[in-house]
Amino acid sequence: MTDGRRAARLLLIAPPNSYRTVSYLDAARRRGIDALVASEGRFSLVSEIADGLHIDLQDPAALEQLLAANTAQPFAGVVATDDASVELGSHIAGTLGLPHNPPQAALYSRRKDLSRQVLADAGVPVPAYRLLDLTRDHAPQLEDLVYPVVVKPLALSASRGVIRADNAAELQGAIGRVESILAGEGTRERFVTTHLLIEAFVSGPEVALEGLLHEGRLDVLALFDKPDPLEGPFFEETYYISPSRHDAAIQVQLTRRVEQACRALGLREGPVHAELRINGEDGVIMEVASRTIGGECARLLRFGTGQGLEDLVISHAVGQPLPVKSATGGAGVLMIPIPQGGILRRIEGITAARTVPGIEEILINIREGYELVPLPEGASYLGFMFARADTPEEAEAALRAAHAKLKIVVAPKLVLEDGRGG
Ligand code: ADP
Ligand code: CA
Repeated sequence: MTDGRRAARLLLIAPPNSYRTVSYLDAARRRGIDALVASEGRFSLVSEIADGLHIDLQDPAALEQLLAANTAQPFAGVVATDDASVELGSHIAGTLGLPHNPPQAALYSRRKDLSRQVLADAGVPVPAYRLLDLTRDHAPQLEDLVYPVVVKPLALSASRGVIRADNAAELQGAIGRVESILAGEGTRERFVTTHLLIEAFVSGPEVALEGLLHEGRLDVLALFDKPDPLEGPFFEETYYISPSRHDAAIQVQLTRRVEQACRALGLREGPVHAELRINGEDGVIMEVASRTIGGECARLLRFGTGQGLEDLVISHAVGQPLPVKSATGGAGVLMIPIPQGGILRRIEGITAARTVPGIEEILINIREGYELVPLPEGASYLGFMFARADTPEEAEAALRAAHAKLKIVVAPKLVLEDGRGG
């Protein structure tokens, strides 16, 4: 630059294990935008993370570090990749006058209890819920519960610790299980470690809406059907198929509910990932998160002239929004289910699965010899399969055919006498 200062860059705030960082870095590179990653990933294999700014996402001092980095070389935009970083992202973007959500909205969208309360107060349909204080006697707090219920932690994601219970005995078991998950998390937010949500189980098909907010207006980028019923007791994500095959009228209503939810939460800028269940003629909000879809699913979406979801998010963040065009054709992703817990020995049939017409890509995220931990405790994805076809039916059929060709060989994990894994 002529004034001797270096070009403005994008700030990417990411937890160390984020699946999204590399996709965002690729998109930034494609757009000729320089990016700085702020993360806890000092030892990351991704050089941009290892060489980036090392911050503690749970420490308020992180904001000062980011401001100092901005003074050295100004940020043109901020993207927070995951739930764990959206609040810090909104603080720094707000301080610098860049497109952002109010920090309070980011907090609401991360904390399931606050989100439920704000939405219920605004008349947006959410499951009936109550908060359980784990430090007090449970019995009086659980009086008059109508089963089935769903137990969940206040601030985890990817369905971790989300458990259906059909009676009081199952509920006690589920509460104990979520307590041990929380104990292993190292969250410093005391309220989150001492409370759980207990919700009415809402039946009905589930959908996910991927959107982008700009000055409070929601552009719907994709509506995904989740064609496998999610009845519990755990809620493993499997198929996401777009475009939705539900009635046009219900699709309009689902979008309206997400718009209302964003307004109630105060979300105005950037990506939105919402999940709803269709109950009769209406949508019930499961979750509205101010980030993109989880895992590596975003790579399924292509807009306009081949732009990915991350291109849209980054362009919006640096104040140069791209025109948004809905994705076309049928597309689907399968988050490959973990058949059982244990040590992954090998996956057979990948080559055959890749040859199924419509299959674009198969990614395996866990290497042989590593442990597979199923829900409700597990946090990682075995892998992803992507399909593209003329119609959503064909995309789904391709994924099912390809999945049928996989044989996932898992060996039991040996447990030594002292309880340590072998
Ligand atoms: P996470 O943020 O970990 O994804 P969610 O609250 O979105 O947690 O719950 C994960 C999944 O569990 C949902 O997508 C849904 O399938 C199921 N689920 C959660 N709450 C309920 C509920 N009250 N009724 C029915 N299903 C639920
Ligand atoms: Ca969810």
